[in-house]
Amino acid sequence: MLFRDIIGQQAIKERLLRSVSDGRISHAQLFLGPQGSGNLALATGYAQYISCLNKQPDDSCGTCSSCVKYNKLIHPDLHFVYPVALSKDVRTSTDVMPKFREAFLDNPYITLFNWFEQLDAENKQAVIGVEESGEILRKLSLTTYEAEYKIMIIWQAEKMNQAAANKLLKILEEPPDKTLFLLVCESEDQLLRTIVSRTQLIKIPKMTDADLTNALVEQKGLSAEAAEKMAHLADGNYAEALLLINENENAAQNLASFQKLMRASLKFNPQGVFAWIDEVNAAGRERQKNFINYALHIIRESMVLNYGDPSLVKLGADEQDFVKKFSPFIHARNIERFMDELNKAYFHMERNANAKILFMDLAFKFNELLNIPKQEMVQ
Ligand SMILES: [Zn+2]
Repeated sequence: MLFRDIIGQQAIKERLLRSVSDGRISHAQLFLGPQGSGNLALATGYAQYISCLNKQPDDSCGTCSSCVKYNKLIHPDLHFVYPVALSKDVRTSTDVMPKFREAFLDNPYITLFNWFEQLDAENKQAVIGVEESGEILRKLSLTTYEAEYKIMIIWQAEKMNQAAANKLLKILEEPPDKTLFLLVCESEDQLLRTIVSRTQLIKIPKMTDADLTNALVEQKGLSAEAAEKMAHLADGNYAEALLLINENENAAQNLASFQKLMRASLKFNPQGVFAWIDEVNAAGRERQKNFINYALHIIRESMVLNYGDPSLVKLGADEQDFVKKFSPFIHARNIERFMDELNKAYFHMERNANAKILFMDLAFKFNELLNIPKQEMVQ
């Protein structure tokens, strides 16, 4: 991780650079910063800088043999510890290291939630367990020195359970020679006091609106106006901004896909239906489940617009335009079956049904349901 690839946080970067040029690198440091501030990215950038063989005044070189390994997180003297979902096969960070590398390289602003999504463990408890401390000692005793320091980055250090924290404390009290511990943490009060007092605190503020806006324009291609709005909503949390962008993109894709399906199934146009199925089939199972939920949402909101209070309708501007035209097709005589068919589709999707067959079936059903005439409402 190069400092220049980390958004904003100029004062922190300068402080870290100075600690290296002054030769005052403390053996245990606590990178304390809120979610989306870049605390993990900064710790990793700092580790890379310390190990870089051709340090520039303001950044790592990016090309020396150490940097090349750091760029892929495969330097033998760089170690990570992070929460995992404990199971028979997963006891420590080492057991899921390839996944962590991939996740961090894809998004250095990764949140604990993102990470557990990638582990398919959203509902499990995130913990750094006691076996991890044995693993830390084992890693630090490996003899392959390539760099001056061995660096151990402990991400989400507040997730250490009591036993793990106590063992880490012992290690910090008698630190192995030429070893750095960089603890990365979002909430200090969940960490053992004694650990906090053994570390040098690097307090990272949330990102400024200006830095966040710039990043959204440069890296995500948002217009200045949209970026400013998004930065305000995300409140200095880059991870939150990424999530919001993702949701917006998903909603736009889902809406386009829903419109296509409805058009093709209203008069059952086989070519249109097949083209749509190919598109949806290529999207992958999570997106398909997401689409079914989206369809449920649009149908529910159409019903509310038809019979309820329009102020209760929860839709974006594009969605509203569409739903105004679409809602007459949703009424008392077909709403229940629409919901029922979609819920059934979701149920089968979760049990690995064949997506092509399932969506073909859905298109036939929709053709039938969309053509049920609306009864006059009794006033
Ligand atoms: Zn370098």
